[in-house]
Amino acid sequence: MPPAPIAASDDGAPPAACDLLVVGAGIVGLAVAREALRRRPGLRVAVLEREDAVAAHQTGHNSGVAHSGLYYRPGSLKARLAVEGVEALLAFCAEHGVAHERCGKVVVATRAEELPRLDELERRGRANGVPGLRRLDAAGIRRHEPHVRGLDGLWSPGTGVVDFVGVTRALAADVRARGGTLHLGREVVGAARSDDGVRLRHRPRGASGGARTGPGGPAGDSDVSHARRAIVCAGAWADALAPRGAAPADADVRVVPFRGGYRVLSPEAASLVRGLVYPVPDPDLPFLGVHLTRGVDGEVHAGPTALLVGARDAYRLTRVRRTDLGATVRWPGTWRMARTWWRTAGGEIHRTVSRRAMAAELARMVPELRAHDLLPGPAGVRAQALRRDGGLVDDFVLDHDDRTLHVRNAPSPAATASLALAGEIVDRAEAAFGLEPAQR
Ligand SMILES: Cc1cc2nc3c(=O)[nH]c(=O)nc-3n(C[C@H](O)[C@H](O)[C@H](O)COP(=O)(O)OP(=O)(O)OC[C@H]3O[C@@H](n4cnc5c(N)ncnc54)[C@H](O)[C@@H]3O)c2cc1C
Repeated sequence: MPPAPIAASDDGAPPAACDLLVVGAGIVGLAVAREALRRRPGLRVAVLEREDAVAAHQTGHNSGVAHSGLYYRPGSLKARLAVEGVEALLAFCAEHGVAHERCGKVVVATRAEELPRLDELERRGRANGVPGLRRLDAAGIRRHEPHVRGLDGLWSPGTGVVDFVGVTRALAADVRARGGTLHLGREVVGAARSDDGVRLRHRPRGASGGARTGPGGPAGDSDVSHARRAIVCAGAWADALAPRGAAPADADVRVVPFRGGYRVLSPEAASLVRGLVYPVPDPDLPFLGVHLTRGVDGEVHAGPTALLVGARDAYRLTRVRRTDLGATVRWPGTWRMARTWWRTAGGEIHRTVSRRAMAAELARMVPELRAHDLLPGPAGVRAQALRRDGGLVDDFVLDHDDRTLHVRNAPSPAATASLALAGEIVDRAEAAFGLEPAQR
């Protein structure tokens, strides 16, 4: 788990006009801004972020794992971009002095019925070209992780841990060094087409209207920037600025917030885990199961849970925002998903409120772990796209019209894949509407 996000210096009021406006200074938005500037030096690029810091949401509240590309359906964007992206990410960290370590990880099957799923994981990993995968027997697992017990395991030496906040701050510095500008505390509240581009309304965060965001949001004391092109990388708020009804069927999705709660292992229990220890995931869910991760700071985190919550920033379990809850409840997919997954949801609630339940889950892999070893920990909120039919969207979803590209679903491993994903986004933007600068 990276340190809490801290403010990067910013460039004051957003420009009245620019070539490309990027919404969101998470790792994806800043990687996109940097990639556009790398390809087109001199492009006038502005990044607007509603919070006073970069990496304030998902990017600064995650497991800090650089995934090797093991899990994802062969041929998917996630598979291709994770495999490419992890190499680019670790090279970026080395170049920019950001903390990282390629420590490898074990995936552990503890029940006979998980073995076919472990086989499938290995098959996927090989199909995706994940380097160095090795099957482990019980003794092999113990050689990597002396306190872990399992029937069978998979060793992925290419997996690592990364300070994603550090990466994002380095990306921000690079964007500014290349002439781009960063505007913190600026919430984009509306977007509309203009003659030759996009008019984006924005206002200082906390100005009238609270956290409401969207094309129909109040004009209030907003300012306007005219951008030739826009790319929206707004994470949990991705659908607030996306046009409704205009999306193709596979992009007709809404973001629902899934809170991921962590516990921290006590210093005594932390010695039970050397690196990264993961269970075999449920192939029908886009979540990886409660795992143990030793981060770049040496702390070991257990988690995350996966609980549908009432706010897109529900870092506290009790936080509910009427607009967020209303959007979730009104979306037909929510109810269809609930009918399918009510039993799983029950287990998640139990693990969230009861550390004994989380400890029991983890003790299947690390039998010495006890409930009192789990101390209170942080939380993140996943921006997970949900289809109208109740299906959780597995892959990244990018959608565009002739001036704006929307990142509609960029859950894990988008932080790992961020540099490669930025390449894909800029490729698509170039093909869809071009990023050449306006005539000046
Ligand atoms: C619990 C958890 C664990 C995870 N673990 C991992 C992991 O180990 N490895 C991995 O690769 N990935 C992991 N992920 C996923 C990863 O964190 C995300 O995929 C990635 O951070 C997405 O980046 P982003 O820039 O799209 O979104 P975010 O980081 O959420 O950034 C979006 C930004 O847009 C801003 N914004 C939104 N609306 C507006 C607006 N209207 N105006 C201006 N700004 C706006 C927000 O304030 C925010 O800063 C995890 C995620 C969670 C939540």
